[in-house]
Amino acid sequence: MTHLDLARQPLGFFPTPIHELPHLTRLLGGPRLFIKRDDLTGLACGGNKTRKLEFLVGQALAEGADTLITAGAMQSNHCRQTAAAAASLGLACHLVLGGSEPTAVTGNLLLDQLLGASIHWAGDHRKGEDIPILAEQLRISGRRPFTVPYGGSTALGATGFVEALYELDRQTSAPGLDFDHLIFASSSGGTQAGLMVGKRLLKKPYQVTGIAIDKVGEAEKSLGELILELANATARFLGTGIRLAPAELHLDEGYSGSGYGEISPGDREAIHLLARYEGILLDPVYTGRAMAGLIDKVRQGCFRRDEKVLFWHTGGTPALFA
Ligand SMILES: *Cc1c(COP(=O)(O)O)cnc(C)c1O
Repeated sequence: MTHLDLARQPLGFFPTPIHELPHLTRLLGGPRLFIKRDDLTGLACGGNKTRKLEFLVGQALAEGADTLITAGAMQSNHCRQTAAAAASLGLACHLVLGGSEPTAVTGNLLLDQLLGASIHWAGDHRKGEDIPILAEQLRISGRRPFTVPYGGSTALGATGFVEALYELDRQTSAPGLDFDHLIFASSSGGTQAGLMVGKRLLKKPYQVTGIAIDKVGEAEKSLGELILELANATARFLGTGIRLAPAELHLDEGYSGSGYGEISPGDREAIHLLARYEGILLDPVYTGRAMAGLIDKVRQGCFRRDEKVLFWHTGGTPALFA
């Protein structure tokens, strides 16, 4: 089986554009910088979850679901894109959000409501712990719910990012663009797992580097372990015969010190630089931090000047308005 054999529900506009960042390249005096615009996937402000949802929602529809359920933080981009997917297909959507109802409704939460999602506040159950009860209630009331996993990060969801590397390959083979590095924000790990598998399938030389967004937690497993497991699960799921070794995992956890959603001076500088010099909006949680990591690496001399680095913009823009 390959990703081409799976049910895939079109939800976004692909391929997303790739272009150079000439002003930022000149300003930093480093490698040639390019950007892949998954902030432009189109699903109610776009983002990387659209790619995962094409496969996950494909499965939901194949199972005859009439309702999508998922979970996330109050400003979850994943929840907003799931709500938009549901609205576009005439499905109901239930979101289980961490925390309690705020007095001011802003950013992604405002969009969730506008998109017609039913919102359930889950307090400190931030990762969908309450979904099984909700799903059971919905079943009893006659609905056919499908649970979209947290962050869309299962083997099926990560397949969206295996496919994304085939898309990148089709876009760059004609212009003969060979990137040396792919850099992006990593959080629930599906993006990185999919890109790691795609790199191996396509036998590409570039290094795939995630910038960790969350503070290193006390969880049983580290993010690195989770990503590697998910990458191997995805490789197995697709019947590739590929096995990824720990040495193939490049996850930089040096930029997440201020914690999830706590903006650092580096994050702020990155958001300002991209806005002022390239007219591109980053977000305060994911892409601002990943770009801050990239800028710091350029300044530290981690890249040669003749190298080409692709920053994968994973979306998140609505959080700027939160
Ligand atoms: C979810 C998200 C990420 C992280 O992707 P994962 O696959 O969860 O690691 C990065 N950027 C944005 C804007 C996101 O919404």
